[in-house]
Amino acid sequence: MQTHRMKTKEVHIGDRVIGGGNPILIQSMTNTRTEDVQATVEQIRRLEKAGCEIVRCTVPTMEAALALGEIKKQISIPLVADIHFDYKMAIAAIENGADKIRINPGNIGSRERVAAVVKTAKERNIPIRVGVNSGSLEKELIEKYGGVTAEGIVESALDKVRLIEDMGYDNLVISIKSSDVLMCIRAHEVLTGKTDYPLHVGITEAGTVFSGNVKSGVGLGIILYQGIGDTIRVSLTGDPEEEIRSARLILGTLGLRKGRIEVVSCPTCGRTKIDLIGLANRVEAMTTELWAEIMQEYPLGLARDIKVAVMGCAVNGPGEAREADIGIAGGIGEGLLIKKGEIIKKVPEEELLSVLKEELVSLCRCEAAQG
Ligand code: SF4
Repeated sequence: MQTHRMKTKEVHIGDRVIGGGNPILIQSMTNTRTEDVQATVEQIRRLEKAGCEIVRCTVPTMEAALALGEIKKQISIPLVADIHFDYKMAIAAIENGADKIRINPGNIGSRERVAAVVKTAKERNIPIRVGVNSGSLEKELIEKYGGVTAEGIVESALDKVRLIEDMGYDNLVISIKSSDVLMCIRAHEVLTGKTDYPLHVGITEAGTVFSGNVKSGVGLGIILYQGIGDTIRVSLTGDPEEEIRSARLILGTLGLRKGRIEVVSCPTCGRTKIDLIGLANRVEAMTTELWAEIMQEYPLGLARDIKVAVMGCAVNGPGEAREADIGIAGGIGEGLLIKKGEIIKKVPEEELLSVLKEELVSLCRCEAAQG
């Protein structure tokens, strides 16, 4: 089922395009020191391999702004510079090759300083993401709406967009974020009817890998399901590669991206006689790695989603795995290899993972070749 998408303007970020019905691109942010070119490049390459399509680095110092040029030479996905407070950093980031900058004009300073940043972006036709967070909402808007509200966040973002439009620039992306999931959803619902700029969507400060994933799944799921959003970032207190895996799963679950390897597994019960929890985790890690390898080898990826079932027993496993392309079901000291619900063969427990991988590799290659 295809989720309806809101019509937004196209914005080019390096060689990628967001908005205008293009695929929703996955972003993350490095957590290395941007000044440390080697560490930052290594992390970006890992993120790229995991499926990251746009990466953002913080630029808190002039040394970091200068490092962007060297980082950009060594990576192949668009690089976004994240700037707070200092307009000179924003200008330096653009001059050093940033493909987009993220600023909150509210903390960049005077109108003249914002204008200087906009002028430099305009000269190079670099998009600006106007990013507003609930935590930095202006006092006047808090008073006007009787607290931090979705309406206040939207008004703040649109005020800043108008400020930049009045300076003659409209190569813009908007983000409005809140760690309050319901407020974040509401703000996107309010904003979407008021602008056609592409939206960068995320639940900010969502928390650790567990709670951040649940909150992002709920928040992004509801926002994206309404057709809102052109690029996403799952924000987790953890390894940024986790953010990419989560973003891929959210988009895949909503049918907004095709070509993933989906693992389904049973919840286990009293019939389970093998270490299914361990096995399911190993299968998930194996498929994550395999997907990345396939994407490296075949840039167009898989022609369709491939579903892998990991079931705990032979009583219900094959039937429950009928929807899957391939699956395994545990027994006592052995398991079954299943394809489209049909039992293919018995396999010793310790060989289940390798046999599954072998079958999956040939299935993926077949689907990738078609892609
Ligand atoms: S597939 Fe078997 S082990 Fe898993 S929950 Fe169902 S009955 Fe239990």
